[in-house]
Amino acid sequence: MLPLAEATPPFFAGIDVGGTNIKIGIVDDLGRTCAYRHVPTMEPRGPQDAMERAAATLREMSKEIGMRDEDCVAAGLATPGTMDIAKGILLQPHNLPTWWGYNVRDSLQAACGRPVSFANDANAAAFGEYWVGSGSEFHSMVLFTLGTGVGGGTIIGDLSVDGENSAGSEFGHTIIDYKESARMCGCGQRGHLEAYASAKAVVLRALEELTADPSSRLHERLQKDGDLTALSIAQEAEAGDPLAHHIVMDTAKYLGIGAVNVMHIVDPGAVIFGGAMNFGGHDSALGREFLNRIRQEICHRAFPVLAEKTHIDFARLGSDAGFIGAAGIARTQYKRKG
Ligand SMILES: [Zn+2]
Repeated sequence: MLPLAEATPPFFAGIDVGGTNIKIGIVDDLGRTCAYRHVPTMEPRGPQDAMERAAATLREMSKEIGMRDEDCVAAGLATPGTMDIAKGILLQPHNLPTWWGYNVRDSLQAACGRPVSFANDANAAAFGEYWVGSGSEFHSMVLFTLGTGVGGGTIIGDLSVDGENSAGSEFGHTIIDYKESARMCGCGQRGHLEAYASAKAVVLRALEELTADPSSRLHERLQKDGDLTALSIAQEAEAGDPLAHHIVMDTAKYLGIGAVNVMHIVDPGAVIFGGAMNFGGHDSALGREFLNRIRQEICHRAFPVLAEKTHIDFARLGSDAGFIGAAGIARTQYKRKG
């Protein structure tokens, strides 16, 4: 955490809403975090209550670090979709049922008394990585967020590609298998990347292949835990189980194909993989092998110049990316107006 005396004003607030927690941060003009807290979402109490608590927490945080309230000039709000970004409205986010149809941007604006910009959480995370994370050296970058689903964000020269209907950069729903037999995606269509490479899909694929491999340690794991998760599959892969390892590397292959599709549309400087499911990232042998397998698939399928020049890496900001990016989007809009 950066002490206020070393920070560069003005300051921006970033508020990242999830199904369980709301992350709240204050960052300086260079994207460095000066204060951070999280509060429970308490979804059943509805969005107005949550926005008022977020604004109150923000005021407490400014006081605590000795920042004058007026030095925080704008706030950015990131939420899961679906949404109408231009209007500031949440449409039907599946993990926030009491928030449907609510103007969450205006509500926060009223509660915190400063301009609020609104973004999809994956696009906000992409902006965070672009501003001060793995994409900071590049003019353009795309982020794949790997978790329960597969999200995406595209940033080109300070601009987040949100689309006309707030459905831009939905990489999880790009098609990697056109056949009738393709896997079913959570959105109701077949063959989408998310149906192959989300944490849910990793578990499903493992369960399907398990019956043909009685020697896999995943059987014992399933019996012991009552269920498999992407994490338990990663642990067994690290411990040397061939089936678990094969499931993880197949996930990398699918993501490599998804990445090539995006590269041939955007031609970004960097393709970054973030989210909770990174198989240990740079810190583990499995994570490094996973990233290399993605790179290998990209080399195999992309234009040679893209395969050679595009930077492929893990995200750097972890779960901070969303609030930092939301603050960064607020900063960009503030500077544009100023
Ligand atoms: Zn889909």
